[in-house]
Amino acid sequence: MKRTSKRTLALIAHDGKKADMIAFVKDNLEFFKTFELVATATTGKLLQQTGLKVKKVLSGPMGGDAQIAAMVATGKCQAVIFMRDPLGMHPHDPDISSLLRICDVHDVPLATNPSTAQLIVKGLYKNLLHK
Ligand code: PGA
Repeated sequence: MKRTSKRTLALIAHDGKKADMIAFVKDNLEFFKTFELVATATTGKLLQQTGLKVKKVLSGPMGGDAQIAAMVATGKCQAVIFMRDPLGMHPHDPDISSLLRICDVHDVPLATNPSTAQLIVKGLYKNLLHK
């Protein structure tokens, strides 16, 4: 798999989980500072309040999840934190399923809830310390 030199994390949150995402990123700010960040449009806009630099792709329903899936498939994204709302209806469900599948195809870490996201943060942080 092709790799970019700087590691990139993707952040996506459904509307019902955006507050959880902001809180999570604020709680782990020092960690997130060490990565290039990419996010779907609305999530990225909200994340700007943390002071982090976030590259925005399209909003999820407009193809942003598909853009992030393409980054994963081409080795341009090393982990995805996707705070999904399992109780909501999403017009872009096919894109969401595709992103999850592409992460599995390419063995890229994917968290879909805060507990797993925390494990990814711990795992990647440990990894950084040993470089
Ligand atoms: P958004 O997209 O960050 O633009 O809201 C997220 C999504 O619903 O997939």
